[in-house]
Amino acid sequence: MAKIGINIATGSLQQSEMIVGIDLGTTNSLVAIIHPELKKPLALKEHNTTSLVPSVIHFDEFANPTVGENAKLFLETEPANTIFSAKRLMGKSYNDIKQNASFFTYKVIDTDDEKLVKVQVGNQFYSPIDLSSFILKELKVRAEHILKTPVTKAVITVPAYFNDAQRQATRDAGKLAGLDVLRIVNEPTAAALAYGLGLNKEVDTTIAVYDLGGGTFDISILKITNGIFEVLSTNGDTYLGGDDFDRAIVKYWMEEFGITDDELKLNKELAQGLRLRAEEAKKHLSNNETFAVDWNGDKLTITKEKLEELIWPLIEKTLNCCNNALKDAQLQVADIETVVMVGGSTRVPIVKNAVSRLFNQPVHDEVNPDEVVALGAAVQADILAGNNKDFLLLDITPLSLGIETMGGLMDVLIPRNSKIPTKVGRQYTTQKDGQGSMRIAVFQGERDLVKDNRKLAEFNLTGIPGMPAGLPKVEVSFLINADGILVVKAKELRSEVEQSIEVKPQYGLTDEDVEKMLLESINHAKDDIALRALIEAKTEGEQILAATEKFLTKNSNLVSQQEILDTAQAMQNLQLALTMDDKDLIQTKIEELNEISRPFAERAMDAAVSGALKGRMI
Ligand code: ADP
Ligand code: MG
Repeated sequence: MAKIGINIATGSLQQSEMIVGIDLGTTNSLVAIIHPELKKPLALKEHNTTSLVPSVIHFDEFANPTVGENAKLFLETEPANTIFSAKRLMGKSYNDIKQNASFFTYKVIDTDDEKLVKVQVGNQFYSPIDLSSFILKELKVRAEHILKTPVTKAVITVPAYFNDAQRQATRDAGKLAGLDVLRIVNEPTAAALAYGLGLNKEVDTTIAVYDLGGGTFDISILKITNGIFEVLSTNGDTYLGGDDFDRAIVKYWMEEFGITDDELKLNKELAQGLRLRAEEAKKHLSNNETFAVDWNGDKLTITKEKLEELIWPLIEKTLNCCNNALKDAQLQVADIETVVMVGGSTRVPIVKNAVSRLFNQPVHDEVNPDEVVALGAAVQADILAGNNKDFLLLDITPLSLGIETMGGLMDVLIPRNSKIPTKVGRQYTTQKDGQGSMRIAVFQGERDLVKDNRKLAEFNLTGIPGMPAGLPKVEVSFLINADGILVVKAKELRSEVEQSIEVKPQYGLTDEDVEKMLLESINHAKDDIALRALIEAKTEGEQILAATEKFLTKNSNLVSQQEILDTAQAMQNLQLALTMDDKDLIQTKIEELNEISRPFAERAMDAAVSGALKGRMI
């Protein structure tokens, strides 16, 4: 229900049900929307500030949390009550993070290795979900303040490698923050969406998304077909990012000024000062050749060349990860059509150049790499809000989808409750020799016979070249994209003739309809199963009769007189059984005929016959 509200700040009309896109990052988080008038993605920021909210939470002595830039100020001076990188703890037990325990300068509870970790600040305990929810709440408040309208719905991004537990934890964090999380989207997918990739359903492509953030590096290879994003491979280093660049600079300065590790450990102010200036230097050198700043009467300096020398080993590591990702996806550099740069650290020119050289093409960095993930999340949110297309939106398929096979049976390709988007393919073959076309009828429902289900569409795959029955290989694929649009394709693999059709699966079905169809399927389950078994037996019997007859006419020279007589008798028995609705009898007669014909079928090794006996037929 789209409500229209008035933006008090601008006086403009807007939809009050705005769905926001959120990049919940390890280092920085931000929120974006599709601008209701400009129809363009926009990262939200208060006047004169940046859109980035540092993913840092500081707790004061009364356990009141502060999030963002103000919390970041306490990173070095109050490490015990200033939480950063909470995302690294999502869905993790102490066992999972043990190896990197020294990374966390706050207290991560280690008493139970197996249970999900908690963080202790003072006498309070926080789960990573609690911590993430503080960040999300801050983003929500920010968005509401800027938009002057309640924000209750969001799309949140997560790394492509996040498992179910981590995704669920992210959803829960959203819920805790008062957000209805409509969808969890992979970060590389969001980045691609921000570039408009995948929005044109006609274009299939393979892309690489190189994401170098503050503390993590991810490379993802994605295949986009029909608007569906498939992660072919991911690789990376969960402890490598721009913070390491900063540390390399700090180390360089420490050597220059003879500062020891121990000194730094004891003097938090010193550590904080150096770290902040190192990050400043790094950012400055993304656009300049040298950096210099006054420091306690001295000067801290570094050149771009020096920085590049310091960080090159780190960049090489990321390139190795890229090669491994390609290998895992079984692809060559030449197969990658687009390379998208994500994360603040891809602003470093040497990073960009190295990636461009590796993939042998210019890389995409036109969209602000800090914001690109959030902007893509906003694009997804807008699709979900139904603003750019009148597509039906389903998270799962409410009813099974399939096609009609021989005997009027329903062959389910996508079972009900499948998550979408989804893609399934199955091979079928022809029933008759020289069959030039194949009817593909698409049905929705849970019953075994298509006549009891709902027909959605039908088309003919024509132009199949004349071949013996069972030889053509027709691949029928069902694709449901994120908008709930089903595309059915049929392709004869030998000749490559193909045909496709687009269907809106739930079109015109109310919740009650769906419920009724499910109920009917349950009530008829027993009858349906018996009927399906009978039809399958009959179909098989008919196929075998036809194949045997064909075999005998072709190969009479290979078969003795006695064998012909025996076969004829068995065929007649089967024929008779087929006229009676007795599944068990039919099956017995099929067995008997098989017993007799198997030896000479093997003798002839006729590919057509064995093909016909094996292939599924429509
Ligand atoms: P995450 O995805 O981990 O939350 P971001 O994508 O926000 O992280 O990247 C943050 C990192 O990007 C920090 O290390 C920051 O110093 C770095 N960064 C931001 N701007 C620049 C720049 N202009 N040059 C170099 N590094 C930058
Ligand atoms: Mg990020």
